[in-house]
Amino acid sequence: MDPRTIGVLGGGQLGRMLVEAASRLNIDVVILDKPSDAPAKQIQATKSHIDGDFKDPDRIRELAQKSDILTIEIEHVNADILEILSRENVVIHPSPLTIRLIQDKYVQKTHLSKNHIPVVDFLEVLSRQELMDAASKFGYPFMLKSKTLAYDGRGNYVVRSADDIEEALKSLGNYEKPLYAERWAPFVKELAVMVVRRANGEVKSYPVVETVHRENICHLVIAPAQINGLVLASAKDMAERAIRTLEGAGVFGVEMFLMSDGSIYVNEIAPRPHNSGHYTIEACETSQYENHLRSILDIPLGSTELKVSAAAMINILGKSGDFEECLRPCTKALATPGATIHLYGKKECRKGRKMGHITTVADSIYQLFERIGPIIKVIDEDDS
Ligand code: ATP
Ligand code: MG
Ligand code: MG
Repeated sequence: MDPRTIGVLGGGQLGRMLVEAASRLNIDVVILDKPSDAPAKQIQATKSHIDGDFKDPDRIRELAQKSDILTIEIEHVNADILEILSRENVVIHPSPLTIRLIQDKYVQKTHLSKNHIPVVDFLEVLSRQELMDAASKFGYPFMLKSKTLAYDGRGNYVVRSADDIEEALKSLGNYEKPLYAERWAPFVKELAVMVVRRANGEVKSYPVVETVHRENICHLVIAPAQINGLVLASAKDMAERAIRTLEGAGVFGVEMFLMSDGSIYVNEIAPRPHNSGHYTIEACETSQYENHLRSILDIPLGSTELKVSAAAMINILGKSGDFEECLRPCTKALATPGATIHLYGKKECRKGRKMGHITTVADSIYQLFERIGPIIKVIDEDDS
């Protein structure tokens, strides 16, 4: 479909599914990540992949030399060198400015709030005094968060009372990493919307989905979200408005909190394919991965509509060092109509590590819950 080579910073499962979509379109992809057997490298046999750190300026430059367009599958990359390369006319999507803005969750929230996108109240915390100020402004519980390098809730601490403050500071590195505080959001549901943006500013969004987290890690995604039409429309509108404020092309994940009065706050944005969009592979007319490729190549976007009535994505998380345990829900899925298993080829299985996922599609929401019930039961039995 396109003779240009795409260089990707990061070689995890998101990169792997991006390579899958690219392979189908005869598009070459070069991956930069440390392990020579990174999930994304395993499935496209080429000598071009680079073994190195996606924060290392020399390796990123090497990737740029081998590629026509650079993109990311993780936001914790070296934005300085991407900005330098961009000034040297290397095409990078999303724009390094956007990547830098999103890398710092405090800067990101400030940007959203300036652009009239609702976010929960937040305050910078540079000292114990500022932490106490946040506690008296927000009350307990409140969230203490690392501004940078956060994922899967690593970098968040729920401060439930003044007694938690020491432990919270210790666990988040005693100000060595910059911190900020957020008001607690007693949400009734978490929602997410994938939005794809072309460099000319055109945006298209995928259906609003519900995300269910366990211990800060996404466990389950239900598409479409089972909420009223007005809330759906306002979540979609808010997600699109948030992405219009950013520069560059690509697919973006917008995480949101739905409150009991129907109001919505944006939690955070991911400048890349997102866990809450895995379901699009089986359930939508064009997957988030293919639309990411189309948007960064600046070729027409595909439809983002659902092509099934309902879909669910269940994450397969590592429990212990034993990968066999992860296969139990997958074995159940083998016998489930409408279920597709994705395993990421990760060699080491650790507690909480994303090892794979299962997407199930159905003709109705009722049939969906009937289908996924037994799979979730296996996971719950293993957890108990
Ligand atoms: P990700 O893996 O999505 O990048 P992260 O480490 O950046 O996650 P957040 O998205 O900030 O973490 O938070 C993880 C989860 O913690 C949220 O999905 C939500 O369930 C909960 N959470 C975060 N902020 C708040 C808040 N202010 N109030 C209540 N719950 C919150
Ligand atoms: Mg995050
Ligand atoms: Mg998050």
